[in-house]
Formats: sequence, C-alpha cells, structure tokens
Amino acid sequence: MSEFIVPEYRYCPQCGAKTKDRKIDEQVVKVCAAKCGFGFFNNPTPVVAVIVETPEGVVLAHDVSWPKGMISVITGYVDPHEIPQQTAIRETHEELGLNAYDPQFVGHYMFHQKNQLIIAYAVKAQGEITLNHELDDYRIIPIEKLKVWLGPTGNAVADWLANKKR
Ligand SMILES: [Zn+2]
Repeated sequence: MSEFIVPEYRYCPQCGAKTKDRKIDEQVVKVCAAKCGFGFFNNPTPVVAVIVETPEGVVLAHDVSWPKGMISVITGYVDPHEIPQQTAIRETHEELGLNAYDPQFVGHYMFHQKNQLIIAYAVKAQGEITLNHELDDYRIIPIEKLKVWLGPTGNAVADWLANKKR
C-alpha cells in the first residue's frame, strides 16, 4: 500500500482561506475560517486486510517500502462505493494474481498511527501467484507454522487462528 500524508488543512482546499479548529461533539474539526462550508473530520480510513489461504498455507507478502524480511497479509484501500468484501477479492487478485472466494469476515482493528480502520477478511484462493508492483516477495506459511505479530493485522491473524481451532 502506498504511503500518503494525512492532510493538515491549514488552508481551506475549497476557497484558500485559513482554517480554524472547531469542536463538534467530542471531535476537533478543521473548518474554513471564511465559512465557505468546508470541514475536515479526520475520520478513519477504511483499509481491508486479507488473510489469503491457499491449499499450501497463508500468503504473507513483502511490500516494496518495508524493511527487508518484514512480511504481512495484504492490505488495500476500499475503492469508492466498494463493499469491503469486494475489496478483499479484488486486492487478492490485483496484488497476488489469485482468484479468491468464500470471503469470511474476521474483525475490525484500529491502526492508530495511521488512523486506519482495518477490516479483516479471510479468503480462500487458488492459482499461480503473480505479485504486482507494490510487492516484491512472498512466503506461503502452513497454518500450523503461522506465527502472529504485533499490530492490527497480526491481531486479525491471531483471531482468525483462534476461531479456526474452535
Ligand atoms: Zn473555504
């Protein structure tokens, strides 16, 4: 997933005037000081994480922007008007070249550093892995050898594994 800077909106993107902070309910909102109507609520960005399960195991991939050796489940932004379940299928195809089916909702997780709401799905997938430009390496980990990691996607994998063992 590409990195984007969260906008500060010191100036109104609509009319160019300065913005000011206004407290609406419990949230500090950037509003246009010239009162053109612009307001920035900094709502969390929905991001779908996909636990891709192939007959050999779970696919963990290395993003080109990550430190060497770091691998994780794939993630992707929800497209405009897209249902997260469709995002899971689409991202599996786009990033790994695999046909995904049977998406199962795993849970919601918060990635606080990026203000992202992680919506985790598990899918079954088949086919030959072809990485897209965002990824440059992958491993398929047999489920019994899958180790979880810290952070929201690791928590999703932990919950998925715990549920599987029930
Ligand atoms: Zn304005």
